[in-house]
Formats: sequence, structure tokens, C-alpha cells
Amino acid sequence: MPEICLLGTGGMIPLKDRFLTSLYVEHNGHALLIDCGEGTQVAAAVHGAKISRIEALLLTHEHADHVTGLPGLLLSIGNCSRTRPLDIWLPEKSIANVSSLLAVCGHLPYEVVFHGLPDDEPASFTAEAADPMLTVDTVPLCHKIPCIGYRLSFGRKPVFLPEKAKQLGIPVEYWKTLHSGGSVTLPDGRSFASGDVTGGARPPLRITYTTDSLPLPGLADFARDSDLFICEGMYGDEEKKASMNEKCHMLMQDACRLAAEAGAKRLWLTHYSPAEESPEIYEPQLRELFPGVVISKDGERITL
Ligand SMILES: [Zn+2]
Ligand SMILES: [Zn+2]
Repeated sequence: MPEICLLGTGGMIPLKDRFLTSLYVEHNGHALLIDCGEGTQVAAAVHGAKISRIEALLLTHEHADHVTGLPGLLLSIGNCSRTRPLDIWLPEKSIANVSSLLAVCGHLPYEVVFHGLPDDEPASFTAEAADPMLTVDTVPLCHKIPCIGYRLSFGRKPVFLPEKAKQLGIPVEYWKTLHSGGSVTLPDGRSFASGDVTGGARPPLRITYTTDSLPLPGLADFARDSDLFICEGMYGDEEKKASMNEKCHMLMQDACRLAAEAGAKRLWLTHYSPAEESPEIYEPQLRELFPGVVISKDGERITL
């Protein structure tokens, strides 16, 4: 089951008690990170995220509050004795600028592999190293520069039916193989397939992460049925709407409306403006728009 920790909830600049937005997701001992603003490696240490387990980095865009933590993070990962390559996905048009940040790292004991993604159409890929059952989908966002949102879909095994396995007289030592989709032949010659003792497919667990963007109508579709939707909410003051439109960001209320339309199970807000010192004051009105909203704080965590 994926373990998720929002390492920071800040936008633009970090505050003394609010790191820049970054999401750590760990599953079966491997992890991935979305966005890496200044100080992300410190936020990871504070919140107990294991950077040595990171197999993939996904970057939304090249604004400093999303990428300038890379040199420090990559150097610290190097200090964890890593030698296997590390994959970084990001908008294709940002590869030149983001890769130039690595110039200050000197020699890293592992290869960093950049994968460019389109910022004008959706894309889909598997992050094999992070999880062979993980599919990543992207959506173009509308920001001042190329920017993309991510949806992580973790495939799930079907439900195992132990009573059925017992009825069929299948010894316990064969259950794991059958639950994992394999087939077995018992010493008495009888053969069984996974479907004989499982209850059919289950939908994947979905985590959707979108920041920084106008609240595009298509985002609700992209976040459809998410188990966890993480979305920016720069301000809770609706008088800032015109300014947010101009800067290509969204309000907390925009995020709540998208989550409601998407039928998301829960919404975590993130990427607060540094001027928004107490985002929790908006909670009552936001709950009216979407009851499953969480005014996230740094270190917000959940196991899905
Ligand atoms: Zn930002
Ligand atoms: Zn930005």
C-alpha cells in the first residue's frame, strides 16, 4: 500500500515552518518524489522520508520553487552509496535548464537520466524502477511556462479468497503464487490458476498531483476517482481570483470545486502563498465545497 508524505506545502519561497511543496510516495520499499524545491532534502530528513529509496523524480515545471533542491538532493543520494541510475521526468522544454543545475554537483556516483515529456498533450509511462505495477499519466497544465500534472496509478492484486483455497485443498505455501497471478500444480497432480482463488480485478489506487495552474476544466476528468488529489491552493481569499488568473494559479476554492467534480475521495491542499500564514482559517467554507478537503500541513501523511 503506498505511503504518502507531503514534505512541504509552500509555494514561491519557504518559511521557517513551511517547506516548499514536494511529495514523497513509497511503495514496497521503493519511492518517488514529485517536485524538489529548495530545501527538499532537509524536509525529507525532518519528515522521515528515505531519500536512498527514491527511484524516480517527477518535476512539474522549472520554476525555482519546484527544482532548486535538486543539486543538494542528488548529492545526498550519492552519499547513500547509490550507483544505479536515477530517472527524472519533466517537461521536455525544461531539460536544458534543469540539467544545468547539476553542474554544481561535480561527480555523482550514479547516472541521472532525463526523460522529456510533452507539455501540450497527455502522456503515459511506467516508472519500472519505482514500481513495476505503477503507471504514470500526465496532463498539460496552464501556467506561465510549460507545466504538467501527474497521476500515479498503483495496480492492485485481486482479493485473495482463503476459504475457497481451503475448500479446494490447496496448501498455504501455494497461496502467494496464486495471489500474485501465477498458477500451480500440486504434488497430487491437480493444477490451479490464480482466478480459482481470487475475487476479480480491483481498480488501481490513484494519486493525482497538480500545481501550478489555472483550474482547467479538464483537470476534474484527470483527477477522476482519485483516492488522493493533491492540488495547489495559493490563497483562500476569493478577492485574489483576478490576480490568480493573471498569474496562472488557483485558489483553494478552485481546488475544492475540481475535487468535487472529480469525485475524489480526499483533497490535500498545497502550494500556499507565503502571504497566506494561516490557511486553516478557510476550512469551514472549503468543507462546504468539498467535505473531504484537508488543509495540509508539512508532513501530512497517509497510507492508502
Ligand atoms: Zn510554484
Ligand atoms: Zn510555477
